[in-house]
Amino acid sequence: MSRRTIQLDMPVHQWLMTHSLRETPIQRELRDAMEGHPEGEMQTSPEQVQLLSVLLKTMQASRVIEVGVFTGYSAMGMAMALPDDGVLVACDLSPEHMAVAQEWWDRAGVSDRIQPRVGPAADSLAAMIDAGEAGTYDFIYVDADKTGYPEYYELGLQLLRPRGLLTFDNMLRGGRVADPEVDDESTVATRELAAKLLADDRVEYSLNPIGDGLAIAMLRP
Ligand code: CA
Repeated sequence: MSRRTIQLDMPVHQWLMTHSLRETPIQRELRDAMEGHPEGEMQTSPEQVQLLSVLLKTMQASRVIEVGVFTGYSAMGMAMALPDDGVLVACDLSPEHMAVAQEWWDRAGVSDRIQPRVGPAADSLAAMIDAGEAGTYDFIYVDADKTGYPEYYELGLQLLRPRGLLTFDNMLRGGRVADPEVDDESTVATRELAAKLLADDRVEYSLNPIGDGLAIAMLRP
């Protein structure tokens, strides 16, 4: 019927939410609590977290990295998709955000699977490589400062195992990537990563118009 992705107007989006979301009460409570938060738009959309959860379970992932935690909604959903002995390394610059996230993870009963790393994410990722963890992660989700994306990409590729997935949120920047008038540094960095992903023969690649645009790259074996 359609050769291109449809536009989601409000009724269709509402239908999608009502007829597909399987949020637990604590996930819903966290999302509702962030409704009026001044930075609430930093939170990953619930349908996207559910997609990440399906991918994790399909891969039987047990080792995950998140770059950009905010108040913990996406990490909570991903941690719930891991086995009991799974590990999610959660990287964020802000100790304040991490403290809020940890309270929510405690309440959701997933804190034992999450290892918080506060500080610049590039430093945390480099430290993991130095600690001998290259090639040991199944899945990486990046939703952080866009100017860091090209660097997170190169560090992330080192940490992934073959056929692992490296994913990036906000690749469409609310449509700004396609507007030639827009040249802020975040949009420029996002375009830089998009060009790299398209041309990079180290990965299989798909850019998906879910949420604000989700790039999925699989490290070729
Ligand atoms: Ca985001």
